[in-house]
Amino acid sequence: MARNLIVGNWKMNRTASEAPSLVTRLLELVPAQLPVEVVLAPPFTSIPAVAQLLAAANHRLSLGAQNAFWEDRGAYTGEVSVPMLADLGCRYVILGHSERRHLLGEQDEAVNKKVKAVLRHGLFPILCVGETLAERQHGQTEAVIRRQLDAGLDGVAGQELKNLTIAYEPVWAIGTGQAASVEQAAEVHRQIRSVIGAIGGMAAGGAEALRILYGGSVTAHNIGDLLSSREIDGALVGGACLDPEVFAKIINIAA
Ligand code: PEP
Repeated sequence: MARNLIVGNWKMNRTASEAPSLVTRLLELVPAQLPVEVVLAPPFTSIPAVAQLLAAANHRLSLGAQNAFWEDRGAYTGEVSVPMLADLGCRYVILGHSERRHLLGEQDEAVNKKVKAVLRHGLFPILCVGETLAERQHGQTEAVIRRQLDAGLDGVAGQELKNLTIAYEPVWAIGTGQAASVEQAAEVHRQIRSVIGAIGGMAAGGAEALRILYGGSVTAHNIGDLLSSREIDGALVGGACLDPEVFAKIINIAA
């Protein structure tokens, strides 16, 4: 497994007709055999088009989704299940993104059910955690992260944690152009590692192997510094992944 994982979160951008030009250009700019793992997470509607392009290019980029529901099927209007995503070739699912928590009221309990559903179907959850600016200013960062991890991973067995990726995304850094410093990110990543080590009853080696991404205003200018910390194992990239030239630069720096 490559150490670094770079995930492009398209958020609610690009229609299914617009998606192919972004992906085609990206495939031209990044080598097929990369020493870094790359995941594209387009909106649900673009997943089939992106899957088709990736399969045809025989590229190592993989596919992710930005959310999933915890039940497999049934009367859940508007939701999309993990088996539906797996059927389209998704490997990763981003869960608990701060936009879902803060704009759509998603609670830790729902995030927990989604994490378990993704693990149950053999896909890889990327669990997002992060504090708001007010929480940081009140010295609550560690408590907030601990709560999100404890609740989000409630009932997840130690063995299953090996399929888990955490994304530390301070809410104040998302889409603001104000990324966390390497020191700020590394400090929280260390806390995350210690909380997960305790949750999983993992030997120190297990928590060491956990991949923890940083997300929040990542650009081609700051990715190199961020990845120079041994605590930071990759990035969850929002705005900058929508420009294939910029996203390719980020990937190539991470490689
Ligand atoms: C994100 O969407 O997860 C994100 C980190 O966004 P941005 O890179 O635009 O801050």
